[in-house]
Amino acid sequence: MSRNCSRASASRTGSGACGPPIGWPTSRARTSPPGRPPDDGCPFCSIPKLSDEDGLIIARGSSVFAVLNLYPYNGGHLMVVPYRHVADYTDLDDAETAELADYTKRAMTALRAASGRAPASTSA
Ligand SMILES: [Zn+2]
Repeated sequence: MSRNCSRASASRTGSGACGPPIGWPTSRARTSPPGRPPDDGCPFCSIPKLSDEDGLIIARGSSVFAVLNLYPYNGGHLMVVPYRHVADYTDLDDAETAELADYTKRAMTALRAASGRAPASTSA
């Protein structure tokens, strides 16, 4: 792998010069966020260290960031992830919880606007 090579970039371009070509991820890649270099540590702690393009980061807050999946399971697949490594949602402090909720609402609003889909009605 060359020094300036990014697996995410190579995979998106299909060059395969420094990673698998576009297509089904390797078995190792399936255990890490798809399209990103396998990491011996926590992948979600590594992603924010990448550029927005290489990390597929679409928004950065003070406590959380929003990231796309190179191999989305469905249209609009994204995650809102805290910067701080925690094992469980209940481990987030109040500020992290508030920002995660805000980013989730903003992401849902943006996805619905982009897709032209309205929220599900709760009226009978
Ligand atoms: Zn982590």
